[in-house]
Parts: sequence; C-alpha cells; structure tokens
Amino acid sequence: MSLSKHINPSKLIRESKDKNSNHHHLISSRESDSTSHPYGARYGITSVPKFHIPSKGTSAQTAYQLIHDELALDGSPSLNLASFVNTWMPEPADKLMLENMSKNLIDQDEYPMTQEIHTRCVSILADLWHAPSAHQAIGTATTGSSEAIQLGGLAMKRLWQERRKAEGKSIHEPGPNIVMGANAQVALEKFARYFEVECRLVPVSVESKYRLDPQKAMQYVDENTIGVYVILGSTYTGHYEPVKEMSDLLDEYEQKTGISIPIHVDGASGAFVAPFAHPKLLWDFKLPRVVSINTSGHKYGLAYVGVGWVVWRSKAYLPKDLIFELHYLGSVEYSFSLNFSRPAAPIIAQYFNFVHLGFEGYRAVAKDDLKNARLLSRALDKSGWYTVLSDIHRPKAKNILQENNHGTTDFDEENSENYEDGLPVVAFRFSDSFQESYPEIQQKWIQILLRTKGWIVPNYELAPDLDKVEILRVVIRENATEALVERLLGDIIEITQDIIKQDSPTNALTLLGKHSRDNVGKMDEGSGSKYSGTYSKQC
Ligand SMILES: *Cc1c(COP(=O)(O)O)cnc(C)c1O
Repeated sequence: MSLSKHINPSKLIRESKDKNSNHHHLISSRESDSTSHPYGARYGITSVPKFHIPSKGTSAQTAYQLIHDELALDGSPSLNLASFVNTWMPEPADKLMLENMSKNLIDQDEYPMTQEIHTRCVSILADLWHAPSAHQAIGTATTGSSEAIQLGGLAMKRLWQERRKAEGKSIHEPGPNIVMGANAQVALEKFARYFEVECRLVPVSVESKYRLDPQKAMQYVDENTIGVYVILGSTYTGHYEPVKEMSDLLDEYEQKTGISIPIHVDGASGAFVAPFAHPKLLWDFKLPRVVSINTSGHKYGLAYVGVGWVVWRSKAYLPKDLIFELHYLGSVEYSFSLNFSRPAAPIIAQYFNFVHLGFEGYRAVAKDDLKNARLLSRALDKSGWYTVLSDIHRPKAKNILQENNHGTTDFDEENSENYEDGLPVVAFRFSDSFQESYPEIQQKWIQILLRTKGWIVPNYELAPDLDKVEILRVVIRENATEALVERLLGDIIEITQDIIKQDSPTNALTLLGKHSRDNVGKMDEGSGSKYSGTYSKQC
C-alpha cells in the first residue's frame, strides 16, 4: 500500500466507526454528517447533526450541554492578542444586557426608552468629538464600524452626485472615486466595491509610517473624488493618520480649484482612545472638513461585540434620500442604517459604559492600555532581537524635556501625552542584526510557536510596495494587564532563544524552513481570493 498525499479526516472517522452502532440515534441517523458527543450514553444520543436539522429535537438541557462543550474548544479570549474587540464587561453590564436581550432597537413604539438611550449615545459622541452643535449632529448605532463606514461613504457619494448634477456634469463618466491609504482596513475597500466607487489606494512606505501620506494622497484627488477616508489608528501599526495635515492640503486644493473634498474619519479604534488619551490632537469635528466619523463601540468603546456608531457633523451632510421615515401611531421616526432589526442590548451596554466609566474612567483605561503597550514595546526593543515599528513608546520630539534647577531633565514617563500619539498596539519584527545572524529563521514561526502556548499573535505582511516587511502585532486591551504582558514577553524571549539554539527541538523548524523559504505567508494566503494589494484580514 502506498502512502497517501492527502487524507480526509472525516472520511477516516466514518470508516473507522463500529458498524451497527445505529440504534441509539435520537438526534441523527446520518452519522457521517454529525459530531459525536461524550455524554452520548448518558443522554441516549450518539451524535449532533452538522448539516441537516434533526427530525426530533432534544431537551434544552441536553442541547445546552452539547453546544457548550463544543464551544469550549474555542481559544481563550484573554490570550487573543490579535483582536481589537473587547471581551469583558463588569457583571452589572451582563445583567442589563440579559434583561434587554429580546428588545429590537427598531421597535421605537414599544421601546421608547431604548430609543431615548440610543439618541443619548449619539449626542454624547457628537459632543465628545466636538460637533459644532450637538443639536445639529445626527448619527446612528450600527453593527460595528464596517456598517458605519458604508453609511459614511454613501452619504459622501450622494453629496458628490448632487453637486455634479447641479453643475450639469456627468456622474457616470468617469464616475466617482474615493481615496485612502493602502493600509486601509477591508471595510473601507468593501465600501468602494459594494457601492461602485473607484478605490484609489495611496501607497504607504516606511517614511509615511505605513499609513496615508497626505502629500501623496493629493496626487490621487480630482473633481470626481467623493471624499478621503482617513484612519485614526491604522489597524496594522496603530499609527494615527494625520487628519489635520490632510485637511490643510484639501483646503489649499479648494482654494485653487473651488472643489471641496470632505474627510470621513475611520475612528474604529482611535475615536474612543484619542479623546481621552490624546486630547490635544486635532482630528475630529473641530476640523470643518471632517464631515463624519465612525467608531466601534465594541473595541475601545469597551462594550460587547455588536455595536458601532456613525455621526455626521450636521444634518446637511446626510442626504435626505438616505433617511427613511417610519410612521407609527401618531409619530414619525427616522432610520438610516443598513439593518432593519438590531439588538438593543449592545447599545444599552455602550450607554452603561458612559454612565459607569465617565470621561475619567475611559481616560484611565486608555492610559493604562498605553502604559502596558509601552512596557512591551521597550522590552522588545531592548532585547535587540526585535525592532518595534509602532511609536507610542517614543517620547515626542518637542516640548517635553524641560531642564529643572538641578540641571537634569524632567520627563513624566507615566504621561501618555509625552509620547507619540497612537493606539495601544505593539507592531514588531526581527531586527536587522537578528535577520543577518539567522537568515534561515522565519518570523512567522514566532506566531506558530506562540500559538502552542495559547497566545494568538498574528504575523502580517505589510503592503506590497514595502518589500516584504512582515510584522507581528499585539493589541493591548483592558484585560492585557502588566502581569499578562510580562508573561507574554517571557514566552516570546523563550521561544526566540530556543529557535536560535542549534540543538533544540524548536530549531528543527529551521530545516523545515529551508524547504518553504519562498513561501512567506501573505496576509490573505489561503483565503482563496486574489491578493488585492491591501490588508484583507480580520481584525
Ligand atoms: C476594526 C476596524 C474596522 C471594522 O470595524 P468593525 O467594528 O469590526 O466592523 C474598520 N476600520 C478599522 C481601522 C478597524 O480597526
């Protein structure tokens, strides 16, 4: 018998089962499509269906136990350092959510108080982001930033169309375009593709810190540009994109050409970090050119997954035909989101945070996240094996070193505002000297080896024109305490040390690597889709 190159594990299991074991099947009789359960004997069942609905159900308690156990195979959220999504809220928030789990936000008639809380959240965000008048601002909850980004883009597209029509110009030849950095999160590119707007990706570089370069962006702007997406907190390195500089250049452009191009800020993460940790930064509605902002309530908004927000600086920037009037008995409500029904609970959780944490609470969490991110960044930099590409641990160049009367300098190390602005993200790679000493060692092994210790730390390839720069990225969230950071660093150092040692089992990987040297993992490798030139990866 010759060895197979490919083996189908499901088939293997099917062929290896006891024959005639069918008499206990309460739930399923097609065992090949089902997964067996450890408590089968006790509950009188042998398997759970995977591909078809069982003809007869099972008790709620049994169903619970079966599904509960299957889900126990998921990774541990606290060791998942790949995701920006918040995974913990205090117990009273859980209670509030449970109490309101069956409420639908759209049923404004039945749940007027829920609607009121939704409106309060929009006002709070409009105020936090310095909308000229909280009365004039308008916004809505969404499922996350992705939906919010579609809505922000649609509004800009509609305004561009209205302007073109008013000028008697074509909206079809050559059609609208939108400008963003090549580091854009996939949701931004989705808008362009789903809503038929040409996507103009501005190449990023080491000099632009892997994010939008406003000067370069101007080469992509023309009379058919509906807007520029500027990201507050690049998903890959955490750098804020320079909103103010982009706005200034678009001001100059308007003076020269008479064409006004708006900015939508994708503040998925940063719009809940900058107001608290970097209050001096100019990025929000204080800049007249910023017409809309989105954020993810479930990232640094610290709610559970399922809530995002989009806010327009005033009603003038949300075209009327995107707003639907819903007529109820005696009242009219307005809807401008992609979903009709939407769970109210995550929105209530968002409001809980506003009331519970307040400005000071959010500020304390953001500063603590940044402090822990600095700790990890410095330690990695000091190791000599790694180079850190994010900058939040580097002191700001100006105005921070003040000589005191002792002739020494004062530097408040604990004040996040003394460091470069950015998200609490640590992006790092093998240092140049490490790569020279150990050319056979591939960085993606660090991701794989950390996984064996339970950590999820992705290794990404940066944009294509960056000549194969790969980064490992750690997102510091509230649950990433100092103790956890210490543990993670310990594991990174141990793994790296092990991989260097010639006689260690880990080093056997270097042999593997010799065979797959040219096969450096693209970020979307294996997804079956063509490499699009941007980072298309879950975040
Ligand atoms: C996470 C993220 C998104 C998508 O947000 P969701 O809330 O996951 O839909 C968009 N842009 C950026 C910069 C992000 O980090």
